[in-house]
Amino acid sequence: KPIIVVEELTKIYKMETFELKALQNVTFKIYPGEFVSVMGPSGSGKSTLMNLLGCLDTPTSGRYFLDQQDVSMLKDNTLATFRNKKIGFVFQSFNLLPRLDAFQNVELPLIYAGVSRVERNEMVKKFLAKVGLEDRMHHRPNQLSGGQTQRVAIARALVNDPSIILADEPTGNLDTRSGEEIMHIFQTLNDEGKTIILVTHEHDISLHTKRILLFRDGQLVGDEKVENPVRAE
Ligand code: ADP
Ligand code: ADP
Repeated sequence: KPIIVVEELTKIYKMETFELKALQNVTFKIYPGEFVSVMGPSGSGKSTLMNLLGCLDTPTSGRYFLDQQDVSMLKDNTLATFRNKKIGFVFQSFNLLPRLDAFQNVELPLIYAGVSRVERNEMVKKFLAKVGLEDRMHHRPNQLSGGQTQRVAIARALVNDPSIILADEPTGNLDTRSGEEIMHIFQTLNDEGKTIILVTHEHDISLHTKRILLFRDGQLVGDEKVENPVRAE
């Protein structure tokens, strides 16, 4: 069964004097274990789509089923509960708290979820090790490289064991080598069964995923399987 079903999804931003159709009748399905990249020029609706998929916003019309549940009409607080259980976010600008170290940044979602101190300690260490940063636990973001900072952000996205990871230009601020390392981590997570959806402008990055959705002017204009995804080292 698909983990994401989007039917005729439309998002219109209403301004004072005009309306802007950011997404128009978008329809697709994503199955568990897929690794999808979302591409398209600036302004084509990629961020709007990610905001809807991540339950950060609701559509103007159309349906969104997340894990069989229709979330398109949910109210804010129910939507937030759904989001926290199902989705891990990774952003281009990392979005870590600058005054907290790597350990504390990864721990934060677990504190919100009411997990005990002992269990938090175990899980934070497990996920920092998973991204290769067990020896950087007590560094703050400004003491880490861009690639390391993004790996902390990935560990933070993973601690609540989401079934889906949404990443908006996760390699956009990184050099090629660091970007490659991030894609390696995503591929490993995908091998382990995580469903990943990633926005990128870079064709090279999209060739590491298994499927490419292409957007133009708010419409889905391409949906292609990547025949032999490039393995990142
Ligand atoms: P992309 O991520 O592909 O660059 P966006 O989804 O950010 O595209 O934007 C799609 C269109 O919707 C653009 O024309 C953008 O200016 C507009 N838009 C995005 N967010 C908002 C918003 N919150 N209010 C008004 N217009 C918006
Ligand atoms: P990206 O670099 O991911 O495409 P954008 O620069 O398009 O991001 O948008 C950054 C943020 O600003 C998003 O949250 C988007 O919804 C919002 N935004 C984009 N365009 C507009 C707009 N015309 N009016 C208001 N908010 C906008």
